Amino acid sequence: MGVGLYLHFPFCQQKCHYCDFNSYAGMEHLLPRYLEAIKQELFMYKVHVSVVDTVYIGGGTPSLLSINDITKLFDSIRRNFYIADWAEITMEVNPGTCTLDKLRVIRMNGVNRLSVGLQSFNNESLQRLGRIHSVEDFIRTYQMAQQAGFTNINVDLIYGLPWQTGEEWQDTLAGVVELNPEHISIYGLTIEEDTPFGCALKAGKIQKMDEDLEAEMYENAVKLLKANGYDHYEISNFAKPGKRCRHNQIYWRNEDYLGIGAGATSYLGRVRYTNVKEIPRYIEKVFGNDYATVEKEALKLEKMIGETIMLNLRLLDGFKMGDLQKRFKTDVDSLYGPTIRVLANQGLLQEEEGLVKLTVHGLLVANQVFQRFV
Ligand code: SF4
Repeated sequence: MGVGLYLHFPFCQQKCHYCDFNSYAGMEHLLPRYLEAIKQELFMYKVHVSVVDTVYIGGGTPSLLSINDITKLFDSIRRNFYIADWAEITMEVNPGTCTLDKLRVIRMNGVNRLSVGLQSFNNESLQRLGRIHSVEDFIRTYQMAQQAGFTNINVDLIYGLPWQTGEEWQDTLAGVVELNPEHISIYGLTIEEDTPFGCALKAGKIQKMDEDLEAEMYENAVKLLKANGYDHYEISNFAKPGKRCRHNQIYWRNEDYLGIGAGATSYLGRVRYTNVKEIPRYIEKVFGNDYATVEKEALKLEKMIGETIMLNLRLLDGFKMGDLQKRFKTDVDSLYGPTIRVLANQGLLQEEEGLVKLTVHGLLVANQVFQRFV
């Protein structure tokens, strides 16, 4: 069986005001060296990984890559690994950074799933978020993606914006649902300290959304998306039948994946590796003939099982205790059964014939549930 391959592209045209991802604006001069370093790092892992079942090119804004660089990147991946015929290959795309020609080249290189970052269907909100595009740019990109042959498109949305009303959120959902994408992800805004939003919060210029209103927005989204034929399969993710994201399911099942690029993490053979975050240091390390890893953690069995339970619970199907016992060849029930039963008594988990999953109430306070397993 193969692994999932994640490739990080940490370049952005400008930084969004809420973003604390490992991405940088104004670093384009490092792009050619970075792509060479990626090529080199892929080669280094050739001896550890042979088949990949899923590929995910994320960022950052991978759609800033030129047509030539996209083809070269996929050539490098294929030169080092066998991409299974059935592989799901996803690329993140930002509206306003793609032409029809570029989307055709992405498709021709085998990408069969696009993830488009829209965030809001309201131009004023997009501006306040620091996004580089308008709603109209998004619609154009979406239509061009369909023209280029994509039949599996995800749209990313954010709710809980400090100024957002319930009505605006409903309009965003309605606007996206009308386009009928195969997959929709919705994330509640987290205001991180070292971002313009974090500074504005500290200075009292913006306020966090009221928790009850944010929960109501989430519940309304679940209702609306389900009513429109989307299967709610993960806390934040909704898919049309057969369109669940296979790559992300590798993370939620805590299975093996290889992460390439600045700041990428890998989980291989029960060991977690984290690459150096900064682009110049990443390039320096890889060209010094070294792995870019700066942290390596061999997970102890109990911790690994706890993390697996936590991640599995993100999936609304939950997990079967018997499957975990087989996978880890240990008595998982004696380790975590008591915690599961306490949470079940509190109405946060449901346990039926060995199948454990979040209840509707547990879904709303999932982070509290997860804390009990890590
Ligand atoms: S485009 Fe994405 S990665 Fe880049 S700054 Fe905005 S949110 Fe962050």
